[in-house]
Amino acid sequence: PLENFSGRVHFEEISFHYEPEKPVLKKIGFTAEPGQMVALVGHTGSGKSTIINLLCKFYLPTEGRVLFDDHDIRELQTASLRSQIGIVLQKNFLFSGTVRENIRVGRPDATDEEVEAAVRQLDCLDLVENMTNGFETVVTERGQGLSLGQRQIVCFARALLANPKILILDEATSSVDTMTEARLQSALETLLKDRTCFVVAHRLSTIRKADQVLVLDQGEIIERGNHRDL
Ligand code: ATP
Ligand code: MG
Repeated sequence: PLENFSGRVHFEEISFHYEPEKPVLKKIGFTAEPGQMVALVGHTGSGKSTIINLLCKFYLPTEGRVLFDDHDIRELQTASLRSQIGIVLQKNFLFSGTVRENIRVGRPDATDEEVEAAVRQLDCLDLVENMTNGFETVVTERGQGLSLGQRQIVCFARALLANPKILILDEATSSVDTMTEARLQSALETLLKDRTCFVVAHRLSTIRKADQVLVLDQGEIIERGNHRDL
């Protein structure tokens, strides 16, 4: 069992292939200290999403170990591991239902007050209240009925309410308008605070903020450090 998990994640000499003879990660090693932001950068196909897949135990490494504190994740129950991880994807996933239900999905026991408090903490209560029916606004799986920015806020609030130690963010390449952008950035900062986060980063502004930048190329870390070192 994963008790009092600090948020420390260690990749120890990780090699991985999806298909035999086609190595995708080659002897990858790094440590994310509790609360650090790790930016993963590199060309398409370099292995960024694969690192995330191993972190979430969607796949097991071919060689090496992934450690959460001192626990090899092979030995952890998948459910217990996943409860420590929040994921905000680029194409944020909503299901058909109300905004409130969408926010509550990872915490079915959360009260209406807790749902609203999460949105308030992100300083986005006005954005939800401006939706057609506020928290009761019905959305479809494709997010119809909400703007891109509004959908993102729903996903942030969901992650905040679940309060995971680790947050994974696949940064959007598409941009919303600058006003919304600023709101989203500040909401994101609130969400990331005091969590270990892994960001598949496309923006220089994110890379600047990261404690560690891992530059991947064909499954290897070819450069590492913070923005100033690189
Ligand atoms: P992108 O920037 O396009 O998202 P990425 O850095 O996330 O790229 P990965 O998705 O980790 O790259 O892919 C690394 C390599 O693994 C690529 O060569 C890719 O084709 C291969 N790959 C990814 N997923 C699978 C899979 N499920 N089965 C087989 N090969 C895969
Ligand atoms: Mg990817």
